Amino acid sequence: MTFLTILHADILTPTGLLRDAILTAENGIIISVEPYRETTPLAAGHVLDGRGLLASPGWIDIQINGGFGFDFTFQPESIWEVASRLPRLGVSAFLPTIITSPLEVLRRAIKVFQAGPPPEWHGATSLGLHLEGPFLNPIKIGAHNPQHLLAPDIDLIPEWRVENGIRMVTLAPELPGALDLVHELRQRGIVVSAGHSLATYEQAIAAFEAGVSCATHLFNAMPPLEHRSPGLVGALLTRPTIPVGLIADGIHSHPALLQLTWMCKGAKSLILVTDAISALEMPTGEYQLGDQVIYVDSANVPSKEGMFAGSTLTLQVAVQNMMKFCNLRLEEILPTVTSTPAALLGLTNKGRLQAGCDADITLLNPKGEVKATIVAGEVEYRTSNL
Ligand code: ZN
Repeated sequence: MTFLTILHADILTPTGLLRDAILTAENGIIISVEPYRETTPLAAGHVLDGRGLLASPGWIDIQINGGFGFDFTFQPESIWEVASRLPRLGVSAFLPTIITSPLEVLRRAIKVFQAGPPPEWHGATSLGLHLEGPFLNPIKIGAHNPQHLLAPDIDLIPEWRVENGIRMVTLAPELPGALDLVHELRQRGIVVSAGHSLATYEQAIAAFEAGVSCATHLFNAMPPLEHRSPGLVGALLTRPTIPVGLIADGIHSHPALLQLTWMCKGAKSLILVTDAISALEMPTGEYQLGDQVIYVDSANVPSKEGMFAGSTLTLQVAVQNMMKFCNLRLEEILPTVTSTPAALLGLTNKGRLQAGCDADITLLNPKGEVKATIVAGEVEYRTSNL
């Protein structure tokens, strides 16, 4: 039996902030969340004093390509190494993202996922793979290698199944045959996201009706909003039920467009992602992204031939940027890295701090800085003064 107690924190519950509260967990599952009382008996085990801190559901990043010098596409075997370091960035669960690459690379990634982490391993939970490509529009390929693009064909991908660890696929829904693929992937329980796409407004609506339930990095790798031809962006901003991933570094999209997205989507259909690459938490220099080399400049922006190539953003900075640019309170933006990505993935046991849910918790100070990360009731990261 392992017990965890967090005392005196302001706990973000599905119905709002519960101030000066106590959370208890047993064997990785939350047992209770209630107001603190002097008479509350404390179980043995780990006790964290959360005075002055906000307890958020653990952060979930649905688009991350690697970090700490490791690239998931170049080296799928690095998934567990990166996962073991993600709790210090507040992340308790994530989708390792594999960009456009030969199908054998994807098979290797599936094998790594199926083999699971090494014994005695600790870290953020890998929820399954996010495959960004290879069914993307060649005109909106961004930094992916065009040599590995494929036309949608379900016969190529019999092993793409939730049971094999494929959780999410980004594709361009306007490609011939793409909607048949969407239908089949949905049948297999995989979330399909529109991205790297030239879809018109009408094609986007048809894609949502066929089962596309998300969009990948809104504004990036898709045509801009035009008033007579609203395109995928116009369709996304006007559909409250379709969540969008957003890279909120203030560089990939201007802060005014982050505000616009917040006004249109709100916390229930906005998902902050990092799209971080191997250069995350690393110095300036050259880094691998799949089979290509990316340069990261002194402003920490990765690029290839003048095009953005992922980011070095953390969810903490994304959350803080949204607070600053959109004038939001911390608790207002937190669903975008917790309950909203959990809902997209159909996870009923994550993204919520309430009895019966997983004890995945990110403890924050009022500035949104990560002070501790708990995964399945285990404290995987804490600052020295906690
Ligand atoms: Zn992309």
